[in-house]
Amino acid sequence: MNAHALIGIGANLGAAHQTLVDALAELKSNAGVLSLESSRFYASDPVDAQGPVFINAVARIETTLAPIYLLDVLQAIEQQHGRVRPYRNAPRTLDLDLLWYDGIEITTPRLILPHPRMHQRAFVLEPLKELAPDLKLKQGSIEALGKTCSDQKIWLLRD
Ligand code: ADP
Ligand code: MG
Repeated sequence: MNAHALIGIGANLGAAHQTLVDALAELKSNAGVLSLESSRFYASDPVDAQGPVFINAVARIETTLAPIYLLDVLQAIEQQHGRVRPYRNAPRTLDLDLLWYDGIEITTPRLILPHPRMHQRAFVLEPLKELAPDLKLKQGSIEALGKTCSDQKIWLLRD
């Protein structure tokens, strides 16, 4: 059975816009990814992080990969783009987060689902309004949660 997953994508170092374009293409070309639809691209001020503005998007995929193997694929793509983790919340060339996977809830050392901070982040919730407006998290609907993040600056990028 194929699963549906939501992936958060962000970058704030280097050619961030192009990095998102490339990362989406790489994810789509993985044999375990059957389809991929991306939100439009947004820019946001860093939240709990430093450096230049972030470029963000969310992708919805259909996949044959189990959650932990999907995380492996996401982390491999991060590595290809030179992701280093010098300290917590450091600026990053590419961050790929597994936000949601068929609504399952798990807490393991490597993977927590749904992503534990997605409900607090405008840069996740705003693009999610495009792809999954009816999604309900334990903390509330995407619409209602988005309103609680209205202090976080985020704007749509022109194509
Ligand atoms: P950030 O929380 O800023 O995205 P990192 O990308 O450096 O931080 O991720 C830190 C760790 O979070 C990773 O080593 C990964 O194993 C773990 N992790 C736990 N749950 C998830 C998830 N749902 N998606 C991505 N990484 C996760
Ligand atoms: Mg991450």
